[in-house]
Amino acid sequence: MKPNTYSLEEHKISPKSIDPKVLYILEKLQVSGFIAYLVGGGVRDLLLNKKPKDFDIATSAKPEEIKALFSNSILIGKRFRLAHIRFGKKIIEVSTFRSGNIENEELITEDNMWGTPKEDALRRDFTINGLFYDSQDETVIDYVGGYQDIQKKCLRAIGQPYLRFKQDPVRMIRCLKFEARFGLEVEEEARLALVECKADILKSAKARILEELLRMLESGSSAAFFKLMTDHGLLQQLLPTIAQFLEERFGREIYNYLQEADMIHKEPTPLKLKRPILVACLLYPLFEKHLKTHFTDCGKTPHLGQVYDEAHGLIDLAFQTSLHLPRRLKMSAVSILVSQYRITPFAKRKKKAIRVP
Ligand code: ATP
Ligand code: MG
Repeated sequence: MKPNTYSLEEHKISPKSIDPKVLYILEKLQVSGFIAYLVGGGVRDLLLNKKPKDFDIATSAKPEEIKALFSNSILIGKRFRLAHIRFGKKIIEVSTFRSGNIENEELITEDNMWGTPKEDALRRDFTINGLFYDSQDETVIDYVGGYQDIQKKCLRAIGQPYLRFKQDPVRMIRCLKFEARFGLEVEEEARLALVECKADILKSAKARILEELLRMLESGSSAAFFKLMTDHGLLQQLLPTIAQFLEERFGREIYNYLQEADMIHKEPTPLKLKRPILVACLLYPLFEKHLKTHFTDCGKTPHLGQVYDEAHGLIDLAFQTSLHLPRRLKMSAVSILVSQYRITPFAKRKKKAIRVP
């Protein structure tokens, strides 16, 4: 099958919008005789007129060949082996074209079978993420119909959504992430498959799930994303305490906190809030409710140690059973919850005026 190709006149991606370091890597791979394309999120974002967060490269070079070519690279990953090419603090990911069977429902535990560019496009998750950009002739190469789907604002799985979600349940979170971030219309079959497969999400590695959730807290679309996660029953699987609270009237306060964070992340020169602050945004209204139930409603005022214990207990209850927050992130989120509680005006916490006898 020949792919559809789109010229510069059609796709209008200016090479100036691509990081020069990425263009340098692509060129070095190409002059060394390998095929090398810009892939995935970077191409998608450029076609959607968004500033890409990062650029990924896919190539016919094997990991060891990439390493031999770039002295500033290291090979990482077991499930998914790839090269990190480092330029100071900036890291560019370069992966070898892979193949994958997209027609069975077996959970993927390793994804290291090399393949052709076409096979690599087909094993990706959504058509919008399956496009290649060839910097040599400035064309977009499309094996999966992603170019048209971007024009139509349609989010479509590559292959059968039910099988693709069974193979890798994290794709369900990614589906809602793209819907929230870009306002795309999810094809009906994918939406039905998502609801059918939602319990499978617990089969995926906790670290991968947590990374997707944390990235979404940073995305500027976190409120919409957590709403979609709840509406589709995925949050109930992963963070049941938070999901249940979101169904209560006061629970919706969480969306207000997330919207505040989203506004900061959407500013023209966005300030990037740190992850512990974002975790605290997700938890603070529930934390207030716990303190109210355990102390203020019984006429008690918690002392600082008790406030700390409540914060620890809440994070354990909300996160540690299904996901696992790294210790440093957890400790910083505890401190932020406690500090926020201390600076929240007393009058807001306790509506009744204090009577002096
Ligand atoms: P983001 O903007 O959040 O980085 P992304 O789509 O670029 O979104 P990455 O995790 O950077 O996400 O992945 C890069 C590319 O790898 C994707 O665009 C997609 O083509 C492919 N990919 C990522 N995760 C999966 C997956 N679970 N299954 C299949 N392909 C995937
Ligand atoms: Mg990316």
